[in-house]
Amino acid sequence: MTEDTGSRPSLVLAGAGHAHVIALRDFVTRAPDACVTIVTRDVLTPYSGMLPGVIAGHYPPGAAMIDVRPLAQSIGARLIQDEIVSLDAESRSFTCASGAKLAYDVLSIDIGSRPNTGDVPGAREGAIPVKPIDRLLGTFASVEQRFAERGYAARVAVVGGGAGGVELAFAINHRLRAIAVSAGAAEARIQVLVVAGSHGLLPGFSDGFRRRVRAALESRAVRLHEGRRVERVEDGRLFLDGGGLLEADETLWTTQAEAATWLASSGLATDEAGFVAVDETLRSTSHGNVFAAGDVASFSPMKLPKSGVYAVRQGPVLANNLRAALSNKELQTFKPQKHVLYILSTGDKNAIMTKYGMSLEGAPIWLLKHMIDNRFIKQFSTR
Ligand SMILES: Cc1cc2nc3c(=O)[nH]c(=O)nc-3n(C[C@H](O)[C@H](O)[C@H](O)COP(=O)(O)OP(=O)(O)OC[C@H]3O[C@@H](n4cnc5c(N)ncnc54)[C@H](O)[C@@H]3O)c2cc1C
Repeated sequence: MTEDTGSRPSLVLAGAGHAHVIALRDFVTRAPDACVTIVTRDVLTPYSGMLPGVIAGHYPPGAAMIDVRPLAQSIGARLIQDEIVSLDAESRSFTCASGAKLAYDVLSIDIGSRPNTGDVPGAREGAIPVKPIDRLLGTFASVEQRFAERGYAARVAVVGGGAGGVELAFAINHRLRAIAVSAGAAEARIQVLVVAGSHGLLPGFSDGFRRRVRAALESRAVRLHEGRRVERVEDGRLFLDGGGLLEADETLWTTQAEAATWLASSGLATDEAGFVAVDETLRSTSHGNVFAAGDVASFSPMKLPKSGVYAVRQGPVLANNLRAALSNKELQTFKPQKHVLYILSTGDKNAIMTKYGMSLEGAPIWLLKHMIDNRFIKQFSTR
């Protein structure tokens, strides 16, 4: 399907990730000179910062969701709920799961990433991927149900020692214990384990922050297994490289991010992991009419962590550059912050923060995170 956009060029936003919802909000005050279409698999996009709080039971699921429909409506954009399954950057068109074909003049991609279950045999079938995040919330409800059916007993393994995995482990630990306590059951039958693999706990973070997180895991009885990679998953058993076995009733997979497979055949330049290669302006290094932001983008000249913080901060630059590309104006460069504030909640309304290589922890840090997250999500409130 090729839409008649009259004399105006067509701008397509692929995916309603963090950078795109910010860009849409930006378009409300400064609209691009184009017919805007958003194609996204999900119209409710989860704000990742609040997800652990939802799992821990501090927020209802709806509190962490951004509804793309009013955003699209407010700028008169067309919203298509569909999943892109192939892209041809040469012919400037893509195909969706429904079979619909669409053309674009300018394309922006913000479709996120998924945990890499593909290269570990059995992980795809035997583990729950933490992404897509909105699906995780539904899946977690069945984890809770099985937990109750087992008489409030569970061995939960979270594979991946990055910030997302560790925060998720804290949240699950808190939630399952709270459920057990309210059912009058013993907490001793709950065992949450972080399998941090060969990269260890929180690679890339300061020693001080790692020490605090390690102590927080220990004090909350969350076990940590480091040094060995899971090389196979089978019937609730995680086989480790070099021998050894871990048993789990539930396995959640949060390891290294993987790119959508269709990007490889799109003709767009990608990095070695298949993510869209972009320059400092978030523009594809191979196609001047394609932009990418968030996890799906491989930024140069420096690699950025796959973190919502960067996707959010890229939003305004992306909005500006999409407008500029449509009107042949100069593009802005995205300047990543040297020091990013990272706050990791420990499940129980406590949190540990790090910035400038320093770290702090306590209930006030959780309150700070709560305030930052609420301020962010309120921008998209339709009430
Ligand atoms: C448990 C957990 C906790 C985390 N906590 C934090 C945190 O506290 N702070 C932080 O900075 N980061 C956190 N992260 C990382 C964060 O989730 C990601 O970095 C962030 O979501 C990336 O945003 P994005 O804009 O790239 O894409 P996403 O937010 O993943 O959005 C992708 C969008 O694209 C759509 N989409 C996907 N595929 C297609 C397709 N083929 N066609 C059309 N639409 C598609 C989806 O429906 C979705 O709307 C966490 C991650 C996890 C797993």
